[in-house]
Amino acid sequence: ALPVVAIVGRPNVGKSALVNRILGRREAVVEDVPGVTRDRVSYSAEWLDTRFTLVDTGGWEPDAKGIDASVALQAEVAIELCDVVMFVVDSRVGPTATDERVVQLLRRTKKPVFLVANKVDDAVQEPEVAQLWSLGLGEPHPVSALHGRGVADLLDQVVEAL
Ligand code: GDP
Ligand code: MG
Repeated sequence: ALPVVAIVGRPNVGKSALVNRILGRREAVVEDVPGVTRDRVSYSAEWLDTRFTLVDTGGWEPDAKGIDASVALQAEVAIELCDVVMFVVDSRVGPTATDERVVQLLRRTKKPVFLVANKVDDAVQEPEVAQLWSLGLGEPHPVSALHGRGVADLLDQVVEAL
């Protein structure tokens, strides 16, 4: 079976946009309104001759326990089934309480975790990303899923970790 890369993070941070950027086509549903992508969709992806399965998560309807619990549960399942995790945060918002829940889970896994700071559309935003070191997940990787900025560098490192 192919190695699995899972993309986790709360709604609206740009997980599906990143999937589309990696696939080079528009398959994952990108929505301004959180709640569109169905739970866990798998895609066949390739970078530098390395094939892998890319798993997009999220878009679930928050259950009675709320959005925090739903995001955490999805992240938990994704972490379990994957080989490498891409944890996406919105660099314009910074880490939220929901992000912190996922961070707790990620700190416990021995699998490689890439902290992806999305929506860094411009170089001037890049210094702000340094504050994400405080999450304790290592180096933040600034990208713009929308424009493609930083995505090649990120993927180089992700396939290296497979
Ligand atoms: P998801 O819920 O995490 O899958 O997020 P989506 O991929 O559906 O994106 C949510 C919103 O963020 C959409 O309006 C996207 O157009 C926007 N978005 C995603 N990536 C970027 C980015 O790199 N830069 C900017 N400015 N907006 C982005
Ligand atoms: Mg989505």
